[in-house]
Amino acid sequence: MRATGLGDTGSVGIGGITLAGGIGFLVRKYGLTIDDLLGAEVVTADGEIVHVSEESEPDLFWAIRGGGGNFGVATRLQLRLHEISEIVGGMLMLPATPEVITGFIEAAAAAPEELSTIANVMLAPPMPFIPEEAHGKPLLMGMVAYVGPIDQADGALAPFRALGDPYADMVRLIRYPEIYEGEGPPARYGAGTNFFTDALHPAAAATILEQLHQSTAMMKAVQLRVLGGALARIPNDATAFAHRDSGLFVNIAAMYMDPGEKDTHDAWVAGVADSLGKDEAGGYVGFLGEEDEGTIRAAYSGPTWDRLRELKRRYDPGNLFRLNHNIPPADG
Ligand SMILES: Cc1cc2nc3c(=O)[nH]c(=O)nc-3n(C[C@H](O)[C@H](O)[C@H](O)COP(=O)(O)OP(=O)(O)OC[C@H]3O[C@@H](n4cnc5c(N)ncnc54)[C@H](O)[C@@H]3O)c2cc1C
Repeated sequence: MRATGLGDTGSVGIGGITLAGGIGFLVRKYGLTIDDLLGAEVVTADGEIVHVSEESEPDLFWAIRGGGGNFGVATRLQLRLHEISEIVGGMLMLPATPEVITGFIEAAAAAPEELSTIANVMLAPPMPFIPEEAHGKPLLMGMVAYVGPIDQADGALAPFRALGDPYADMVRLIRYPEIYEGEGPPARYGAGTNFFTDALHPAAAATILEQLHQSTAMMKAVQLRVLGGALARIPNDATAFAHRDSGLFVNIAAMYMDPGEKDTHDAWVAGVADSLGKDEAGGYVGFLGEEDEGTIRAAYSGPTWDRLRELKRRYDPGNLFRLNHNIPPADG
C-alpha cells in the first residue's frame, strides 16, 4: 500500500493536521505531513481559487505548510505517497521509572531514522492487557513504528526491549494502517500544552512521575516524541513550521469529564510544563487549544512569524480567516 505520514490518531482530519504540520509515525523517516505536500487548491479570502505549489504562488504554499487555516480554505491537497506495506510497530508497555523514561528517549534519539516513537508516560489505566497489579502505577506506553527492512527491525528495537520487563509487548509485523487501530479513552474536556526542546533536564523523568501523582484528572500523560531524521534535514525556514532543529517534542495533557474542574487541570498542565523547562519555548499549533496571541506567536520563530504576518496582510488583510490559531494581519 501507499501512505503519507499523518499523526498518531486515525480520526484526526487531514485538513487541519496537514496545514499545522503533521507529526506522526513516519516523521523521522519521511518528515512531517507538510513535507509530503506537493500542492493544494486554496480558496482565498477574496473568493479566488488558486493552485499553490513550489512553482505556483510559492509564498502562499510556504504559509499553508504550518500556518494552519489562516490563509484560505484548502479544498484539495496533493500529497506524495510512500510505498509502505508492512511495518514492525505497536505498543511496548514498560514500567515507568526515571531510568526507563530517560533510556527510552536516549534509545529513540540513537535509533535509525526508520524508527519513530511516541512515549506516553502515564499511570496505567485498567486495560485488559496490563496486569492488574500494575493498574494505577507509572507506565511508559511506547508507540513504535519501524518502517524499514524487516530483518533489521529487531536490532533497532532491542535497546527499547532491554529497558525492562514489559507489562506488554505488542510490537509485531503489521500492515501500516493497523498502527491506527484502537481508540483513546472517552473524555469530554482536555487541558494541554506542549513545547519543543533540545533535551530535558536530568531530573525531568523523576519530575514527570511525581507530577502524574499530583493530578486528579481521569487521565493524564506526558508525551515525549523524539524528532530528528528527515524532519530535521529540511531547513527551518523552508516552511512555516519552525521547529525542525528541536530534538524533542513534549506534550502534556489531562482529560476530564466535569467542566468545573477546568482551572485545576489547566494549572496542573502549566505546572508540569514549567517544571520541565518550558519557559518561553514555543509549541506546536496543531496541539494548542484556545490560546492567547503570545502563545500562538511563540509557536513560530521570530522570522517565521514576521513572514506569516506579512503574507497574512497580503492574502487576508481583513482577517476573514480568524477562527483559528490566528495570525493577525495588523497589530492590536
Ligand atoms: C486525538 C488527537 C490526536 C492528535 N494527534 C496528532 C498527532 O499525532 N500529530 C499531529 O501533528 N497532530 C495531532 N493532532 C492535532 C491535529 O493535527 C489538529 O487538532 C488538527 O487541527 C486537526 O485537524 P481537523 O481537520 O481534524 O480538525 P478541525 O477541527 O476540522 O480543524 C481544525 C482547524 O484547522 C483548520 N482547517 C482544517 N481543515 C482545513 C481546511 N481544509 N482548510 C483550511 N483550514 C482548515 C481550521 O483552522 C480549523 O479550525 C491530534 C489531535 C487530536 C484531537
